[in-house]
Amino acid sequence: MSSIPMVDLKTQYRSLREEIAAALEQVMENAAFIGGEICGAFEQEFAAFCGVRAACGVANGSDALYLSLRALEIGPGDEVITTPLTFVATAEAISRVGARIVFADIDPSTLNLDPERVEVEITPRTRAILPVHLYGHPAEMNRFVELARRAHAHLVEDAAQAHGAELGGKRVGSFGRLACFSFYPSKNLGAFGDAGMVVADDLELVERVRLFANHGSRKKYWHEIEGVSSRLDAMQAAILQVKLRRVEEWNERRRSLAGLYRQALAGIDGLELPSEAPGCRAVYHLFSIRFRDRDGLSAHLATSHIATGVHYPLPLHLQEAYHYLGLPEGSFPVAERAAREVLSLPMYPELSVEQVDRIAAAVRAYAHR
Ligand SMILES: *Cc1c(COP(=O)(O)O)cnc(C)c1O
Repeated sequence: MSSIPMVDLKTQYRSLREEIAAALEQVMENAAFIGGEICGAFEQEFAAFCGVRAACGVANGSDALYLSLRALEIGPGDEVITTPLTFVATAEAISRVGARIVFADIDPSTLNLDPERVEVEITPRTRAILPVHLYGHPAEMNRFVELARRAHAHLVEDAAQAHGAELGGKRVGSFGRLACFSFYPSKNLGAFGDAGMVVADDLELVERVRLFANHGSRKKYWHEIEGVSSRLDAMQAAILQVKLRRVEEWNERRRSLAGLYRQALAGIDGLELPSEAPGCRAVYHLFSIRFRDRDGLSAHLATSHIATGVHYPLPLHLQEAYHYLGLPEGSFPVAERAAREVLSLPMYPELSVEQVDRIAAAVRAYAHR
């Protein structure tokens, strides 16, 4: 029996081989490898894709988060509220600027940051709210826009898993003051290495991100402030330009595969399928189901040569790295329960209908054993 991986980047590459080769050849001919015309063009195209005016390419999604908080002048003495069920980079960015991480629990149906839990964490020191569009499902941005406004805090989006997702017909990335994207290879739009982007409507703010990302310099060897080195390179931009033209189609395919999974997995006792909130267009970076005996199910699928993932097995407040925050087990029960039960099934545009059927049959066999 052939094995089914979590993602299949080789098949995707084969479908784009000639276009990517031509794009890379162009970069090498131009010999402008950092910044330059191709990076600028891709920034414009990606900003348009998000429905905003400006974008700044950076080295990776983690830096996009860090540079956003820096550009907003968030630092020591400030608090930033975020979710404990996310990739660690979301929280790292807060500490990296010297601010304090404040976690709030998540919504049990979408597993995104819960606005009600955020509201009770707001203090006079709250400088930003940082929701994550987890698994490609938009967070409740209308509520967060309102909460941030009332708290005089900034709203920053971690959209690393949600390129092209929509809420009320509006793209994620267009709700916050700044929004952060990752082009890590396995993301819905992935580079052939590390890459990231900060987008916003506010041109000045995006130029501030660019300033920090380029050694605090607008003019070579003149430094207004102390910055860092975090830039998008032209090889990645060229590849991303090719792939950006396919993202819509790939997201649609992910959505239809999610629909097939939903049909094929309907009515299994104790199995919870990912929900899509009203007005949302999720882009299924991951298709995460919930099952009490998650580890048993995952082991059974592994014996059927079906790969799975857990996003994420331990909420951030319980990680050793964050013991210093003094948040014991029980602090965020919804996130803690989700971490015990979530299981991501294979999800990528090249997945076939037959493969979805085979995966669903294996899940059903285990659940009804
Ligand atoms: C991938 C990811 C990041 C970090 O992006 P990198 O490009 O790997 O640095 C940040 N937040 C979330 C939610 C992610 O999934």
